[in-house]
Amino acid sequence: MKLARLHLRIANMRQDSLHKLTTELAANYEVICIEDLFVSGMFKNHNLARAVSDMGFHEFRRQLTYKCKKFGNGLVVIDQWHPSSKTCSSCGEIIDVLPLGVRTWQCQGCGTTHNRDINAALNIERIGLASLSRPTVSYTGSNDCGEESSGLGFDASETSLDEAVSEQQDCVSSFV
Ligand SMILES: [Zn+2]
Repeated sequence: MKLARLHLRIANMRQDSLHKLTTELAANYEVICIEDLFVSGMFKNHNLARAVSDMGFHEFRRQLTYKCKKFGNGLVVIDQWHPSSKTCSSCGEIIDVLPLGVRTWQCQGCGTTHNRDINAALNIERIGLASLSRPTVSYTGSNDCGEESSGLGFDASETSLDEAVSEQQDCVSSFV
């Protein structure tokens, strides 16, 4: 199975770049795991470019969903309750607090020093792959999951992606 582990910032991504990225991902990887970010703890700051950020993520997810289906590959959406950023991908220890500005941290359980985003990506991958064995997972490769309720009807005033905005990055750190 070919797997992609991708960390990306989509807040400032242009539409054409977003299409290129989602096409490349959907066409080339059998399974893609993403976190349902807009309802996660990353969106607690209401003051930062929330509309752009939210639309970026929703558009990314929307494109990825239909393109994965088109190419016959799988998309696993991890729900927001998994503490992907705060869980040590090496030993499973969960830390209490990880402020958004903290880019690297050291696990007190095993001593591993983590890049915040790479660690989160590893956790998302692990959770996503584990969930594939469960029948209830949203997996566009195997069923027509019509779960669009969170896509368009959300209240943009409730969320923002301050971390992404602060990074001012388009799309970075693709690694396998
Ligand atoms: Zn650890």
